[in-house]
Amino acid sequence: VEFAAADFSAPERNRYAYKLEGFDADWVETDAVRRLASYTNLPPGHYRLLLRGSNRDGAWSEQALSLPIRVQPAWHQTLWFRAGAVLAVIALLFSIVHARTRLLRARQGELERKVRERTAELEALSKALKEKSLVLERTSITDPLTGLHNRRYMESHLATLVAQATQSGRALSVLVADIDFFKRVNDTYGHDIGDQVIRGLGDVLRRQKRATDVVARFGGEEFVVLCEQTEEGGAMLLAERIREDLEKTVFTTPNGKLSVTCSIGVATLPDAGGDWETLFKAADEALYASKRGGRNRTTLHQKPRASEARVAAKNKG
Ligand code: GH3
Ligand code: MG
Ligand code: MG
Repeated sequence: VEFAAADFSAPERNRYAYKLEGFDADWVETDAVRRLASYTNLPPGHYRLLLRGSNRDGAWSEQALSLPIRVQPAWHQTLWFRAGAVLAVIALLFSIVHARTRLLRARQGELERKVRERTAELEALSKALKEKSLVLERTSITDPLTGLHNRRYMESHLATLVAQATQSGRALSVLVADIDFFKRVNDTYGHDIGDQVIRGLGDVLRRQKRATDVVARFGGEEFVVLCEQTEEGGAMLLAERIREDLEKTVFTTPNGKLSVTCSIGVATLPDAGGDWETLFKAADEALYASKRGGRNRTTLHQKPRASEARVAAKNKG
């Protein structure tokens, strides 16, 4: 804005001052040589340019000239544009977040699916392993010929039973049964018929045993019955039933009918021994007493008399 004071007597002595309200904090003084108020890059808005002039004597005009000025905003400075820009940025951020969330969700879903798959696989594997381990465990304690328990199971179970019986003071009996002259069966009828006879004694034992008794095939044609809470009287009755049942059993072979007998030894806690091996040995000794006595019979292990027990204890010591 160029300006001039209307005093032409000595214009070079005139002075001026201007102030752009809304922009300048103070008046800007200038002289007759520079009668120009110039502004660049004013922010858009409403301003008011105030102008004052003096005459050659330095007397200032009483009133300032007031010039309203409006700086129009450029297109990119309009409220609409700015609001639109803010909205666009928000929309952009929102879509980025949205896209990222979707991506993460998809990845998470994929991960969860994989975890579910792996878990199902592992569960199936673990189930198969458990079943296999059960089968192996059962196999490891089962006699394949008779399906009864085997020696390994018998020994560990007898050890447990002896410990329990010793603690509770209850009776525990062991029966050992062995087929008489079995070698002859094998020699005369063949090994397969021998096996059939072994299975036959197994069936007799299954038939005769009570629910709490445990039967195991201990060796070739030798079986053991463990009878919890059974005194010698009950054990002897069971042994006799087994012996009689086998005696009456008839095996049919290609070479005619065949019958066999067995001898049995019985020993009972607490009379015989303190540990399972001693108890078992006592039943085995009773079995051999049956064999010596003529076979096809049942013998109860005899308690050593007091004097014999002392000698035995001394020898052991
Ligand atoms: P004893 O009356 O003194 O018992 O005479 P035994 O002939 O029965 O003598 P022993 O008990 O020593 O004989 C066991 C025989 O059993 C010896 C072996 O050939 C046979 N044997 C062992 N295991 C099996 C088997 O799994 N199947 C068959 N068929 N025979 C077996
Ligand atoms: Mg025998
Ligand atoms: Mg034998």
